[in-house]
Amino acid sequence: MSWPESLRRHAALGAALLRARGRRFDPFKLTWILTERCSQRCRSCHLWAREAPSGPTLERIEHVLAANPQLTWLNLSGGDFVERDDAPEILRRAVEHLPDLCLLDFPTAGQDTEATLAALQPVLDSAVPHVVVTVSLDGPDDVHDRVRGSTGSARRARATYAALKAVRRRGFRVALGTTLSAHNLPEVPPADPLTLLPPGVPLRDLHLNLAHHSAHAYRNQDTVLPPVRTALSVVDALARARSWRVDPLEFLERRYWRYARPYLLSGRLPPRCGALRASVFLGADMQIYPCSIWERPLGDFAEVGDSLRRLGEFDAAHELRAGAGRACPGCWSPCEALPSLVAGGGRPL
Ligand code: SF4
Ligand code: SF4
Repeated sequence: MSWPESLRRHAALGAALLRARGRRFDPFKLTWILTERCSQRCRSCHLWAREAPSGPTLERIEHVLAANPQLTWLNLSGGDFVERDDAPEILRRAVEHLPDLCLLDFPTAGQDTEATLAALQPVLDSAVPHVVVTVSLDGPDDVHDRVRGSTGSARRARATYAALKAVRRRGFRVALGTTLSAHNLPEVPPADPLTLLPPGVPLRDLHLNLAHHSAHAYRNQDTVLPPVRTALSVVDALARARSWRVDPLEFLERRYWRYARPYLLSGRLPPRCGALRASVFLGADMQIYPCSIWERPLGDFAEVGDSLRRLGEFDAAHELRAGAGRACPGCWSPCEALPSLVAGGGRPL
């Protein structure tokens, strides 16, 4: 990856952020569920509990990519999309069709190390400046296995994390994602909240998320938000224990938790939301949603030729954008909060 190419892509991202601030429908981040299939049986997500859509074909995926060459941030998700046999080919086509792509990230349950490395390789070989893989680890190994409904899940996730840590490539990083939920945190915080986190890993690699309810992204029905006092005690303990660096992702994480605190304590949301401006959500069934939480599909993406810049042609688009943060259930989901903070320079867009 050459410096001029990296600079060009960062400039493209900067221009996309400005467009997101000024235009009604020109999101720079796409969150895309490529399959709902997953080998795990998580308590906080019920994608596994029904016959899951296998996701779009490779040809359809290629059409979406080719129709949106302006994309600068692509988040590929599932289910666990690395469990698709064609995951390496999907990523090869993503980097081929998105010349301005500046950040590509995907989460994985980390159950298949070889498949994860194979999926990643085309991106490592590309000029994408920032590549982030998040391996899920929801606490100490026994807690993780219980939450994931899979014996040995934590051991396999740790093996994938270790293999990814060995990857050397400028701009690549691996994170451990711990989702704080009603299923892995007790009501009463323990004396040392750090004991609720995965042991034996660098604290800098740990990234905390909030579990959310979503009928289309997780197909969960129950309240999964964590006990508030315990969640905040974990966030605060981790913030005290880790050494912070000058790093854009760490800065974003601090900002995320700054706004998560009032949301958890009183349900108070930031005044603005970036759904449909900074980011948009595409399901495995190719329905477009404003975000990962609000169960209000705009329609099938094919109706606008798979083009994000034509989202305004959906009848519901203007109503849903205007209602964001009001008529919607409200959330502080990282899928939407982080691009909103990026576009807003550290404040919600
Ligand atoms: S939370 Fe992730 S790993 Fe768990 S069932 Fe859902 S998609 Fe699979
Ligand atoms: S605040 Fe509302 S519109 Fe915005 S991401 Fe959350 S649920 Fe979606």
